[in-house]
Amino acid sequence: MRLLAVWFGLSLCIFAQTPALQPFVRVSGKTIALTHVRVIDGTGAAERGNQTIVIDGGRIQTVGNFGEVAIPAGAQVLDLGNHTVIPGLVGMHEHLFYPTFGGVPIYAEHAFSFPRLYLASDVTTARTGGGLEIHTDLMVKKAIDEGRSPGPKMHITAGYLEGPGSFTPQMLELRDAEDAKAFVEYWAGRGATSFKAYMHITRAELESAITSAHARNLKVTGHLCSVGFREAAALGIDNLEHGLIVDSEFDPAKRPDQCPPASIAQLAALNIAGAAVQQTIRELVQHHVAVTSTLAVFEVAPPLQQRFLDALSPQASLNYLSGRDRLPESTHRTSALRIKKEVEFERAFVKAGGLLMAGADPTGNGSALAGFADQRNIELLVAGGFTLAEAIRIATLNGAKFLGVDDQTGSIAVGKRADLVVIDGDPSSRVEDIERMRIVFKDGVGYDCAKLLDSVRGKVGMH
Ligand SMILES: [Zn+2]
Repeated sequence: MRLLAVWFGLSLCIFAQTPALQPFVRVSGKTIALTHVRVIDGTGAAERGNQTIVIDGGRIQTVGNFGEVAIPAGAQVLDLGNHTVIPGLVGMHEHLFYPTFGGVPIYAEHAFSFPRLYLASDVTTARTGGGLEIHTDLMVKKAIDEGRSPGPKMHITAGYLEGPGSFTPQMLELRDAEDAKAFVEYWAGRGATSFKAYMHITRAELESAITSAHARNLKVTGHLCSVGFREAAALGIDNLEHGLIVDSEFDPAKRPDQCPPASIAQLAALNIAGAAVQQTIRELVQHHVAVTSTLAVFEVAPPLQQRFLDALSPQASLNYLSGRDRLPESTHRTSALRIKKEVEFERAFVKAGGLLMAGADPTGNGSALAGFADQRNIELLVAGGFTLAEAIRIATLNGAKFLGVDDQTGSIAVGKRADLVVIDGDPSSRVEDIERMRIVFKDGVGYDCAKLLDSVRGKVGMH
């Protein structure tokens, strides 16, 4: 164990020196002390002021009141008054693709810019929520793990388990339950550690995929429509994406194994406190089905930010802005209704003991960008009634628990990997300060957020 720790410590120092990472590294060294910081630790506990965090060999060695914690001789000390430290985010619905606009449902792989955007925007661990170029996703993860490319620690979900009827030609259609099994076996063998069921899968295919994944100790999530939430919970699904607003089971037009057209009137009429929704919540909690909140992707016109426009290529910027300008009033109303209903459901789900996580899902009309949308989720969760400490727990420790890596990351605790974000400001009094990230530590190496962002200027929309 000790040998392994030493090896890790050394290898991290080597990584920090690789030509690929060196331009982005702002703080590296065996022992680092962050002093005078406000700490929100990711467990949901209240923030603590004037703390010292000592990082040693890539791990958190000590956390405590300034003045009570001994700073080791030779430590590199960063005096960070008026800064807040939170755990690196654990993004649970990330993608390495982004829309190509113009009403064409084709998504372009962003293997270059998105890993940098995630890391620059606080995300130190990312589970993809389905891949469209799965071999690229796997190779990006390998490059990051080997220190050849900056990015978060990646957990790769295979391609979509989808039946006939998909809105994009980028998803392979399953033929039957046997095919679903073969799909899981193939991609598990190639390094996928998670599976994503999609909107037109049948119950038989879903059951077959779950059985096959669970036999390998791997998990299955879903953005479902043809299968209702309670049906999926009974079949053993581990996680549901987006939440109640995509649950078709309350729709009177729902037929077995078929996805009915989304009905906004029906969503508007749905009573979260009513018996039917409460029964669904109970069954999800009983079956230990986690839910991933993706509020940002439902927000079609968030406040327009310069950093967002800077990241987009000139063509993508033009496409995005012209699409956004043409959105009908009804789309704005639908967007607001979805977010309101969903966050109400999420509060009830958490109150009932459910495990809620969060992720960016950089799709939709292009408003949700890798990383930026992870931060926006925290703001929307707080606007929807969660405390900041709860919202941060949802975006950090809860995802780490689901992934089974909570002994390593997801909160600020002694012995864990130093995956931390240094924020210039106080998000507990001004939640938007979450966007003022300065340094993101991954395994104790501090990356310069501004340099990472600079490196992808004008790249989104291209690669
Ligand atoms: Zn998605």
